[in-house]
Amino acid sequence: MNVTNLDKLLLARAFHPSADHDIDAGRYLGEFGEDAAGKRRARCPLCLRHALDVVVDDEGAAVGFVHRERASASRCPLAAQSVQPQALQVAHARDLRCHRQNRAAFVARWRAHYSLMKAQVEALTIARLISLVAYADAVNLWSHPGLRQSDMPYVLLALGELIAEHSDAVSTQWVRFVFNGTVRTVDDLWTTRTATPTLFRVRYRTDTVGSLPSWRDVVACDEVVFGTLDDPPFDGAIHTADAMRFEAFVQSDDGLGTPADVPSDDVSQTLSGSQDSVRQSLENYAVYTMRAYARRRGKSA
Ligand SMILES: [Zn+2]
Repeated sequence: MNVTNLDKLLLARAFHPSADHDIDAGRYLGEFGEDAAGKRRARCPLCLRHALDVVVDDEGAAVGFVHRERASASRCPLAAQSVQPQALQVAHARDLRCHRQNRAAFVARWRAHYSLMKAQVEALTIARLISLVAYADAVNLWSHPGLRQSDMPYVLLALGELIAEHSDAVSTQWVRFVFNGTVRTVDDLWTTRTATPTLFRVRYRTDTVGSLPSWRDVVACDEVVFGTLDDPPFDGAIHTADAMRFEAFVQSDDGLGTPADVPSDDVSQTLSGSQDSVRQSLENYAVYTMRAYARRRGKSA
């Protein structure tokens, strides 16, 4: 296969073609053989399509899987040429009791959450954390009755879409977090979950003017090793100014929009008009980051 960054796109494990478990490339070859690949391809863990080839070394030993097709309309990070992958979906009616309980629990341990997030993206700023919490407010993420605090660092990262890690005069490094293909919505995590989900960290390095990253820009796709809130890696390393900024945000904003808009005794309140506008502005923010990306690319040319 004539792909220059083939080694960077290798997946160590895939989903079995027909069974409900994953499989490594060696076991796949042992079970199906090289000739069977066209009939029973392993499934991509990110998009679940039967689209993986096995890559072997010079001695014929399996070293991993790689995506076979790369269609412009694909939304798989390992195959997308122009369409950006779908972000994790949140669609939930507001439940005031859950909102307050879950948000307060998050705020009480925000340093541990932020530390676990920064362990994945060291460049993640406190401003980005605040914007992600505000986004969670607007889409009623806290209202989910099954919300697991231990998942929140990773759910927020997945909601963050493209996050800039590093930028210089000639290129920008981006990171994106994508759960495996069985997790499209938070309900898949917190309502119907049957197994520990897998989260992938996809890193891109772009030096193409004005274009969003595609599979060609991928420099690494790794499974995230989940940390625990009881043992955060950088708990004491948050700058005082950042801590003050976050504390000021959560003290001034309970995530419920204008209090008068949301009756306190209504536990199934859907988005009010003001919340719609908040959500709209945050969606614009997400678009803005994409446009900023394109602008940055233009400037660095
Ligand atoms: Zn895929």
